Amino acid sequence: MYDVAIIGCGVIGAACAYELSRYDQSVVILEAKNDVAAGTTKANSAILHAGYDPAPDTWMGKLNVRGVRLARDICQRLDVGYEQCGSLVVAFSEADLPTLETLYQRGLANGVPGIELVDAARAHELEPELSDAVVGALWAPSAAIVNPWEFALAMAEVAVRNGVELRLRAQVTAVTRTSAGAFELTVPQGIVSARTVINAAGVAAGQVHDFIATPSFHITPTRGQYHLLDHSSAGIVRHVVFQCPNERGKGVLVAPTVHGNVIVGPDAEPLPDDQADNTACTAAGQDFVAQQALLSIPKLNLRDNIRNFAGIRANVDSGDFIIGEAPDVPGWFDLAGMKSPGLSCAPAVAEVASDWLANRGIRGVRKQNYQDGRTHIRFVEHTPDDRAALVAQDPAYGRIICRCETVTEAEIIHALHEEIPATTIDGVKRRAGTGMGRCQGGFCGPRILELICRELDMSPLEVLQDEDGSYVLDSLAKGGE
Ligand SMILES: Cc1cc2nc3c(=O)[nH]c(=O)nc-3n(C[C@H](O)[C@H](O)[C@H](O)COP(=O)(O)OP(=O)(O)OC[C@H]3O[C@@H](n4cnc5c(N)ncnc54)[C@H](O)[C@@H]3O)c2cc1C
Repeated sequence: MYDVAIIGCGVIGAACAYELSRYDQSVVILEAKNDVAAGTTKANSAILHAGYDPAPDTWMGKLNVRGVRLARDICQRLDVGYEQCGSLVVAFSEADLPTLETLYQRGLANGVPGIELVDAARAHELEPELSDAVVGALWAPSAAIVNPWEFALAMAEVAVRNGVELRLRAQVTAVTRTSAGAFELTVPQGIVSARTVINAAGVAAGQVHDFIATPSFHITPTRGQYHLLDHSSAGIVRHVVFQCPNERGKGVLVAPTVHGNVIVGPDAEPLPDDQADNTACTAAGQDFVAQQALLSIPKLNLRDNIRNFAGIRANVDSGDFIIGEAPDVPGWFDLAGMKSPGLSCAPAVAEVASDWLANRGIRGVRKQNYQDGRTHIRFVEHTPDDRAALVAQDPAYGRIICRCETVTEAEIIHALHEEIPATTIDGVKRRAGTGMGRCQGGFCGPRILELICRELDMSPLEVLQDEDGSYVLDSLAKGGE
């Protein structure tokens, strides 16, 4: 019997686990997929939004600024890729200026630090490649870019180190209650019992809620597509460049990434409920994103594209997060409708969940022996002297496996043996940054497969690209050698 079961290990479940792992109670995370951060958390704009967008009386408005501040501290503490680059929302005509003024006033009400309305000259000074059509902008220096999957992974790792149990491939398919009030969650491995449940199941949070509670909200999966541009485009923008929000969302952005690429997107396309995992890109969506982005940055070179991808938003009708105990199911706490700025708000959302547990008398006392912190060696970021020292310490640092991103064998071996180890090629990518460059894993993929087999004692035929079923090899040639 666990005190708390968290359903889902995206950034919201991971943030809850990290926060709760500071306290003395038993926590289990049940994640349907074979890795953490494998849902919406791995495919989004990767922006820590400053917090001027949501209305002040919403959960989003209340949690955004605090979430971003906590996220900055967590990224520093856990050595997560992060850069506070600031953001601009640009107006293309006088007609857009009232929207900027509204965002500015919301920003003031939400406590966004340093927010400022700037004229066209200042906007172009901040961002020289902006379109000449830009007549003004909203400048928010506190906005940041982050590595979203590392953010979630790092929090989950520290939680596991401090006693939280993570069960992967543990999709909850039914929930019942015992006469004593405990929850019984059905997963493929059997039944998991818990006194309380936190529902952080992302796009599936509505279905999971309905397993035990009266249906009260509906999630519309809403796809957003992106272009990712090569390092050769780096520098075309220095900040996150948004357009004025419209009925289709926050508008198409152009932004640097912490990996040195440029991200361009997203659009917003509602999908039928049964297509909540449809992350396919379409020609129409890609074209729309490209055309919109060129309005902001006309010199953008979309021929630098190295990858297209899509993520799925968990949109609810209210337009706000759904945070709270299900009225008819005491002990069941929903963290649903976590669309943007869910990534930005995650640590603050986790605090709300933690306070709820404290109010219910479930949260234990603070652990005395809590082990926070994490370091991540990125060979490429070291000075030549430091690199030499690393190679002297471990010769595997001298073997470059991913040549596009300069990732060494030692970093990959680390990824395969850390607290939540990678077991797939994309799992290594999310931890070590392999396959993120121009060749997109074409050259390093087979070598990573060999390392997975060697380190985890697996057959090449068992190795997955990413999700279960995505086998890399079909059969062995040359007599199985
Ligand atoms: C296109 C796009 C752009 C975005 N841009 C930004 C941005 O720039 N900044 C920002 O702040 N936010 C952004 N967001 C929002 C942000 O990505 C999300 O708020 C956040 O990732 C949601 O995290 P989550 O943990 O709720 O969901 P997820 O990451 O999807 O995690 C939910 C997990 O639950 C698991 N699960 C589902 N059902 C079950 C079950 N029955 N049993 C067990 N496990 C289950 C899933 O496998 C999944 O791993 C964007 C979203 C999209 C789609």
